[in-house]
Amino acid sequence: MLDFLGNLKRTHYCGALRASDAGRNAVVMGWVHRRRDLGNLLFLDVRDRSGIVQVVFNKETQPEAHAKAEQARSEFVLAVEGKVIKREKANPEIPTGEIELVASKLHILNNAKTPPFPIEEEINAAEETRLRYRYLDLRRPKPHANLALRHKIVLEMRKAMDEMGFIEVETPMLTRSTPEGARDYLVPSRVHHGQFYALPQSPQIFKQILMIGGLDRYFQIVKCFRDEDLRADRQPEFTQLDLEMSFPRQEDIFNVIENVMVRVCAVAGIEVKAPFPHMLYKEAIRKYGSDKPDLRFGMELHEVTECFPAEAKQKLQIEGNLFALAAPGAVCYSRKQLDELTEKAKGLGARGAYFVKVAAEGMTSTVEKLIGTENVKKVAEICGAKNGDLVVAVSAREQIKGTEAAALVAGQLRLHLGEALGAIDKTQWKFLWLTGFPLFEWSESDRTWVSAQHPFTGIVDDDLDKLETAPWEVRSKGYDLVLNGYELGSGSIRIHRQDIQERLFKALGLTEEQLRRRFGFFLDALTYGTPPHGGIALGVDRIAMLLSGEKSIREVIAFGKTTAAQDLMAESPSEVDKEQLVQLGIEVKKR
Ligand code: ASP
Repeated sequence: MLDFLGNLKRTHYCGALRASDAGRNAVVMGWVHRRRDLGNLLFLDVRDRSGIVQVVFNKETQPEAHAKAEQARSEFVLAVEGKVIKREKANPEIPTGEIELVASKLHILNNAKTPPFPIEEEINAAEETRLRYRYLDLRRPKPHANLALRHKIVLEMRKAMDEMGFIEVETPMLTRSTPEGARDYLVPSRVHHGQFYALPQSPQIFKQILMIGGLDRYFQIVKCFRDEDLRADRQPEFTQLDLEMSFPRQEDIFNVIENVMVRVCAVAGIEVKAPFPHMLYKEAIRKYGSDKPDLRFGMELHEVTECFPAEAKQKLQIEGNLFALAAPGAVCYSRKQLDELTEKAKGLGARGAYFVKVAAEGMTSTVEKLIGTENVKKVAEICGAKNGDLVVAVSAREQIKGTEAAALVAGQLRLHLGEALGAIDKTQWKFLWLTGFPLFEWSESDRTWVSAQHPFTGIVDDDLDKLETAPWEVRSKGYDLVLNGYELGSGSIRIHRQDIQERLFKALGLTEEQLRRRFGFFLDALTYGTPPHGGIALGVDRIAMLLSGEKSIREVIAFGKTTAAQDLMAESPSEVDKEQLVQLGIEVKKR
């Protein structure tokens, strides 16, 4: 028989009771965390959001409550009335360990099936099971703490933006395609037969139009939707701190974001200092082989192409440049480890990996015969290798127009080795602004130049003339914010002139008809006095993930999706009723 809550009022959260409450009456409510039956005494640990308290039922003094407690099982929902007393022997493991609640009355408010995994801090249930029963997973302390921290982060963002004069404006979810380089999620219109809304990949066009509308400073904590391949730090729907401001210099936008990030980190108990350092994109690629360099450790890359004579390159089938790095302390790597490293490098896109071991007794190299002793020495020297280091040089299997393919491979290897050698200082928080991006990047699949960011990104004034003649040389007014090897967000000073925006669309290969159809309304809006403007968007999920020390953004999202973009709990996506399809005029073809 279940009890009703009736008019019973909770007086304390379970985890809040302390020695100073001893002697007080208390009413707590929560779930049965653990049960221990010692015959005359029955202990129930009761859990709520705040923690756990031990409740004791005494058969002699409170036989009725005791009898009822015997029925309670894991995850039953209870209300307990009782008195707080000091424990004879304190349990230092839990914050409420100095007291216990002696029950006088027990209300069983609901029962529960045996959960598919125990609700403990450390569990080894598969992530799929956790996602399917997310409501049970959420009862654990860490998911609680993550969502609470996320709340604090978002709250601090709102406070900071408000204090800096930004206004939060909501933009539509049912809209038309906003190009951010991903596929759209489409929503069919019932009223307009054969027509579709797109869920926004970002509020990009709307926020620019808000600047045309004179809002001056806009922000929004907003959901964005992108249908793309998912990874640990990517979800089909994710949240951005999105902002835009009128008449900004780049540094004005940087100041705003630095202020926000310093405050947000402080909320998580992390002290960071502004201003954040800057780096040019080209330097990041050449030094770190990445457009989101992790600066928590060194192991910088160096170009060593000059150490590989033409003949050696030919034998090794190397086409482009070679990049190398010195891995500290890895001189002891065995033959087997080097083979593994070579395989790893090949998996990352290397043609091959070539090693130099720098030991007190001298240097040895896997390519000594091919490039000669002097060149081996030179490779080590260029990389600044010391005794005990292993120098790893790589070439790329395929060259990529407009970028250093070998550096990109070496950059990945740097991360792998940094982790393997324990070289990354995990206590550090290294923010970085990246600037000087190319406006376009080469798309191998489309065999054309595409926007490196999105097509509203401003163009460096001096490079405008090259838009049609040498697009690969055009620099953008874009920037990225990077933290510990993660891209936290990107933004730019925008194109605010209609003539330039139209030229850019054409440079991207859009015909007059296409650009009218897709962006006509925006090009029109640009003609009515558009102020210079710029902005940025930061990934809230990634920020919450990093600040809570998690490795996957699913851990900081209440109801995340799998890498196959499924919600295992709600079982979406799903088929829909025939009737709904008929109304939408849609017929599903079997694949
Ligand atoms: N809309 C861009 C993005 O989602 C951010 C920006 O340019 O402000 O990455």
